[in-house]
Amino acid sequence: MSKKGIAILGATGSIGTQALDVIRAFPNQFEAVVLTCGSNAALLIQQALEFKPKAVVVTDSLQYSYVQDALKGHNIAVLLGEVGLVEVVQYEGVDVVLNAIVGSAGLKPTVKAIQSKKDIALANKETLVVAGELIMALVHEHGVRMLPVDSEHSAIFQCLTGEEHNPIEKIYITASGGPFRGKSRPELRYVTKAQALKHPNWSMGAKITIDSASLMNKGLEVIEAKWLFNLSIDQVDVIVHPQSIVHSLVQFQDGSMKAQMGVPDMKLPIQYALTYPGRFENNFERFNFMDYPTLSFEKADMETFRNLALAYESLRAGGNRSCVLNAANEVVVDAFLKDRVGFLEMSDVIEQTLDQVEFIAAPTLDDYLETDRVARLITKEIIKD
Ligand code: NAD
Ligand code: MG
Repeated sequence: MSKKGIAILGATGSIGTQALDVIRAFPNQFEAVVLTCGSNAALLIQQALEFKPKAVVVTDSLQYSYVQDALKGHNIAVLLGEVGLVEVVQYEGVDVVLNAIVGSAGLKPTVKAIQSKKDIALANKETLVVAGELIMALVHEHGVRMLPVDSEHSAIFQCLTGEEHNPIEKIYITASGGPFRGKSRPELRYVTKAQALKHPNWSMGAKITIDSASLMNKGLEVIEAKWLFNLSIDQVDVIVHPQSIVHSLVQFQDGSMKAQMGVPDMKLPIQYALTYPGRFENNFERFNFMDYPTLSFEKADMETFRNLALAYESLRAGGNRSCVLNAANEVVVDAFLKDRVGFLEMSDVIEQTLDQVEFIAAPTLDDYLETDRVARLITKEIIKD
């Protein structure tokens, strides 16, 4: 059997490094053909020397010559920027593109990978938030697989295996509730980034950790699920489950519900996306019932955590609204991490941006890219004021 060639976009991040753990564990099945990073060139170099990919891409131009020098004589091509990303996803030896970039920067490489008939293992949920309708149309046109890496979507995907002809009644996306579950708006007004960065169950990149604290992550996941599983908005529900053991559920037309469960560890959904439809034996931690005598569930509080309501509203409005939501959110999260906006203000700024960006009912790829650009500028202006 020839090895499956994997291109890991965002190899130096939380998902990227865990994907390399999976590849390291199955050296006869998988090969890292391409590795890319934003600015963590030192780690990229270390990874490249270990995995010997055909090519690496670094997005930060200031780091380019450093990477080139370090990899000289190793027969590894070094490419730069978005141009490099859209080139390497087309390489012949690449079977799967694992997109673990953070933010809408992941959109163009995903589009190019699909057009080059590569299967996609998608961690970069922003791709589907920004342009879900367009992306799924491309997936069908080019006959590729869109394999979810996000744990909730992997759970639903696993529940649907063998159920291809059975319509879904609804899905429940579980949410841990984050570090501020149960808090009121007055209590949230002055929370710090250090508090928001302390997720109870998962260790992740900074942006998604803030999104988890504000419930925007769940909003983005609702949008991601709608497109991934071709559902109506009313078929996608969120349920808070603080233990993060039930990773999500599907309810079928006869009322039967299937859930996928396990300890919270992203390596499992990453591995499943790479081994699908098979399952490989591994030594990841197993679930112990005695550690979790109680699994509990509660309603999501959309009045306190308005981002989740805004995500539903954007999805309902359609067109370029979710693209605006995402762009505004990327900017406010960055500003929150730099102490320039407060925790609750993030929702206010996003809402104002949604009011100000022109509505486009049926956007093209260029429309999405332009919406993303304009929305970022408007959000930055609002924050400045
Ligand atoms: P991270 O910040 O840890 O890593 C991001 C990676 O992308 C890094 O390699 C970084 O160098 C690269 N990168 C950043 N900006 C870039 C840009 N503009 N262009 C090219 N590369 C860039 O993030 P993460 O937590 O690994 O998350 C990655 C994606 O996976 C996000 O979309 C996130 O929502 C999703 N996700 C993450 C987790 C998790 O447990 N971390 C779980 C589910 C989904
Ligand atoms: Mg998730």
